Amino acid sequence: MPSRLQQYQDTYRSLAAELAQIGFIRPGSLVSRTTSCGKPGCRCQGDPPQRHGPYYQWSRAIAGKTISRRLNESEADLYRDWIANWHHLEQITQMEEVSAAAAEILLRQSNPHQDLQDLQEHQSMSTQVGGRRAIEKCGTSARSGAITLKTALLP
Ligand SMILES: [Zn+2]
Repeated sequence: MPSRLQQYQDTYRSLAAELAQIGFIRPGSLVSRTTSCGKPGCRCQGDPPQRHGPYYQWSRAIAGKTISRRLNESEADLYRDWIANWHHLEQITQMEEVSAAAAEILLRQSNPHQDLQDLQEHQSMSTQVGGRRAIEKCGTSARSGAITLKTALLP
């Protein structure tokens, strides 16, 4: 069974491959509507009614304002693809969460003595020895400094 890190790496690689293939993107949404004009005798008033349209409109909110654009059928087809790509991109940006999870594993691996269990042991040892330990640490390596910082961050 692959390790958790290996799984994250595989997921990341496949997301990156999807990103490499993605087409143009447009955020926003596409609506189509049909209308009735109200003119007597028009087909839209018939039985059954044949409404006008469909008419397409792409719209997008920017800084609290909605901008929109009217589209014909073939333009609407283009927008449909671009908007789908936009939603796909939102899924691909899970790359960030995958990276964060993988980063935690890699950081722990690069500092094997700093995993949580060791840190807890280290803390109880500090409590026993009291202030002396803190003094011992002054002027030691950057690594001890990192441990001190991590300890300080715990509640
Ligand atoms: Zn009509």
